[in-house]
Amino acid sequence: MELAVLLVNVLAADSAHGRPVTPPLTGGERLAAIHSGLSAAGRPPSGLTTADADRLAEVAGEVRLLYGAGDCLPEAAARLNDLLRRHGAVPTLHGDPGKPLRLAFHRPDATLVDAWAADMGTALAMVIGVGQGARLGVCQAATCSLVFFDTTRNASRRFCDLSCQNRAKASAYRARRRT
Ligand SMILES: [Zn+2]
Repeated sequence: MELAVLLVNVLAADSAHGRPVTPPLTGGERLAAIHSGLSAAGRPPSGLTTADADRLAEVAGEVRLLYGAGDCLPEAAARLNDLLRRHGAVPTLHGDPGKPLRLAFHRPDATLVDAWAADMGTALAMVIGVGQGARLGVCQAATCSLVFFDTTRNASRRFCDLSCQNRAKASAYRARRRT
């Protein structure tokens, strides 16, 4: 789930924290964005190529539609089903000698992009499939299209982070003062 949020935010956001941003456009830029995003999250990727980065940008663009989908969720889910098929998502027990078996949603011989897309897509499908699609949120602050996974108990989260929450509160306060 964190991986989906991270990839969408670094590869497919056109605004963040009140400022328009240009998503990375070339394979090199995308690869750098994925590396810095994942390294900041404490899990630097290894073995990714610029071609992988381009394919992951496509995946991020498709997955992005699921966040804040509202009434469009069925259409976004149909595209998710298609993504799961294309990337060969299948529940599989993976085993390394001497280690406990681990359930993942890609074939043992899947490419890295297929594995990420299948695992991410399955995680999102499981959230939507238990009626929790509204937890795939988009920041409600002005000029911020960052997405998040809402883990609050009553699914009440509205902002990507505290800085956007404070900005939105301040502008609501100014709007009240004006009237
Ligand atoms: Zn935000």
